[in-house]
Amino acid sequence: MSLETVALTLVSPATLAGDDPAANPCLNCGACCAHFRVSFYCGELAGENGGRVPVELVTQMSPLRACMKGTEQGGGRCVALRGELGRPGIHCAIYEDRPSPCREFEIWQPDGSPNPDCQRLRARLGLAPVPPRPDAENDPEGPLHPDQPAAA
Ligand code: SF4
Ligand code: SF4
Repeated sequence: MSLETVALTLVSPATLAGDDPAANPCLNCGACCAHFRVSFYCGELAGENGGRVPVELVTQMSPLRACMKGTEQGGGRCVALRGELGRPGIHCAIYEDRPSPCREFEIWQPDGSPNPDCQRLRARLGLAPVPPRPDAENDPEGPLHPDQPAAA
C-alpha cells in the first residue's frame, strides 16, 4: 500500500459495534493513524463545497491536495489522533468528519481475512494479530473454517 492510500476504521467501524477492544481491535490500536500519509482531495475540506474535514488540521500540499497534519512525510502521527498508541482509549477526534482515506482502509479484506497491512502495523506495536472477520465463515466468499464445507 502506498502512503497515499490509507484509511482508518479507527474507533467504530461500520462492521463492528460496541466499545469492546476484543470485538473491535481498532479500539486499542491506532497504528494506521501514525504510519501512512493521509492525503486527499481538497474538496473534502470543510467549507462551501460541502466538505467536512477541519481546515485547521490539514497541510495544503498542492492546489488540489491536502494532508492531515503530522502525516505529511509518512511515519508521523495524525494531529487528530487522541490517546496512546496500542492502548485502550485511542480514538479519532474527528471520526465523523475524517477524510476518505480514513474510511477506506479496512481492517478486513472483502473475503473477511485480515488486512495484511493492518496486521503488520499492529505487530510493530506488539499487538496480537486480528482474527478473520467474525461472520466470515458464513460468507460464501469468506475464508473457510476447517469444519465448514466449501461453498458450491
Ligand atoms: S492498524 Fe488495523 S487494527 Fe489498528 S487502528 Fe488501523 S485498522 Fe484498526
Ligand atoms: S483523521 Fe482520524 S482516522 Fe484519519 S488518520 Fe487522523 S486520527 Fe486517524
